[in-house]
Amino acid sequence: MVVQTQRDETIWYKCEECGLMFDDQSDARKHEGNCEAEGPSYIQ
Ligand SMILES: [Zn+2]
Repeated sequence: MVVQTQRDETIWYKCEECGLMFDDQSDARKHEGNCEAEGPSYIQ
């Protein structure tokens, strides 16, 4: 899921799955379709 967040008066779009941030919503949506992350996880 892509969430909208504001930082330094700029709107960012963040992929909730992996935490990547985009300044363009369409880029974020595109990434979301390809994101292979399954929620926040850490290498054990
Ligand atoms: Zn992602």
